[in-house]
Amino acid sequence: MEDRLFSPNEKTGQLKTCKRCKKAFTYYGYGYEYCPMCKEIDTENFQKVKEYIYEHGISKLIDVVEATGVEEKTITTYLKEGRLEIPEGSTYYLRCERCGASICSGRFCQPCATVLVKEFNTSVAYNEIGNKPMKEVTGKMRYLDSNS
Ligand SMILES: [Zn+2]
Ligand SMILES: [Zn+2]
Repeated sequence: MEDRLFSPNEKTGQLKTCKRCKKAFTYYGYGYEYCPMCKEIDTENFQKVKEYIYEHGISKLIDVVEATGVEEKTITTYLKEGRLEIPEGSTYYLRCERCGASICSGRFCQPCATVLVKEFNTSVAYNEIGNKPMKEVTGKMRYLDSNS
């Protein structure tokens, strides 16, 4: 009789380093790469940020940091993980880690993600692929209404 049907499958668990506290933990291939302890803190922080934005609409990063007490670094991580997105029309965007294009969330723009997967056989999580803003800000930050 199989009596371990509902226990976690130890074989599929991978040893990973927690992105937050750098401790090793067993990762089962879904969710964000945090150890159970950090996951709890993270869920709480993300909830605060989410509620603030839900209540106040599009918000400035500095206001969110001040109101929630969640560090700027943590909020940037949410953007890179694709859990938050920079709204259209912002003067600040994330940069694709490969080509430097402006993206609203994640780590890579879509064309780069395709290349990475196809040509370099690198896995890119779907949440790490970000859309480019409709109106792309190139080079240094500039006012959106100039030069257009
Ligand atoms: Zn941790
Ligand atoms: Zn790119």
